Amino acid sequence: MIRELQDKIIALKKEKGVCLVAHTYQASEILEVADIKGDSFQLSVGAQKVPEQTIVLAGVRFMAEGVKLLNPEKKVILAHPEAGCPMAEQIAPARVAQFKQDNPGIPVVAYINTTAELKAVCDVCVTSSTAVKIVSRMPENEILFIPDCNLGDYVQRQLPDKKVNLWLGGCHVHAAVTEKDVLAAKKSHPGAPILIHPECVPDVVKHADFVGSTSAILDYAAQSDAREFVIGTEMSIAEHLAYQFPDKQFHILSKKLVCPNMKITSLMDVYHAIAGTGGDEINLSPELMRDARRPIDKMIELGS
Ligand code: SF4
Repeated sequence: MIRELQDKIIALKKEKGVCLVAHTYQASEILEVADIKGDSFQLSVGAQKVPEQTIVLAGVRFMAEGVKLLNPEKKVILAHPEAGCPMAEQIAPARVAQFKQDNPGIPVVAYINTTAELKAVCDVCVTSSTAVKIVSRMPENEILFIPDCNLGDYVQRQLPDKKVNLWLGGCHVHAAVTEKDVLAAKKSHPGAPILIHPECVPDVVKHADFVGSTSAILDYAAQSDAREFVIGTEMSIAEHLAYQFPDKQFHILSKKLVCPNMKITSLMDVYHAIAGTGGDEINLSPELMRDARRPIDKMIELGS
């Protein structure tokens, strides 16, 4: 049944000239038929390099907006219209605009996991893998980091000479992991490197052998000689790694690491989005496209 649907999707993509991009937190059956897989920024950049003029994204809305911002001439469709990310939508843009008005000279750094409206009032975007590098290259000594206070805290610890003001936001999935979970994992899997995403709380991150983005965790596990790992990010990453490296063992740091927003998209949703009978096309006004693109361009400039 899954195989049949996958075959139909592969044929339909070709017939309709569609490129399917899927975030690494998506289910395996979707990733197996995706043309581009990766984190949100990798998907946006990857979509620029393909000839297809229609991009279907399996992920959440801010990612589809990100693809649209970097591919304004392409048609971008979010496979499941209701796939959102609570963290991306956590802050009203007007509150950030007010902060800027009250604090001239303090730039606002936005995690890429934000809506286009929110990006539009910020100065520079960062990904979890580039946050430290980009903030370190900014000329200002003080910044406001939104929306994830845990990633912001991580940046602050790496850059003690900077003052990183935090917003009390974050990813509820990663923030649900506790120090008790890490201590239990260490006890159950002694010696296994613990790889943790910086969206986890500082009391969890401090026990990590490696802190990195989803892609960095995948790369670390692929290149390491260790045979056993504890994975501290959305549980699909441990599943994908186990599938890719059957001779290594991957343990989930906590069973709480499941993102319901990422799991809402089914293979059937992907089929309908490609067939033109489902999904939601991303439409952003020209002004929003211009304003939300600015901090992304700044990120590319500072990150390269
Ligand atoms: S894992 Fe967290 S940041 Fe990622 S989509 Fe889910 S809620 Fe949003």
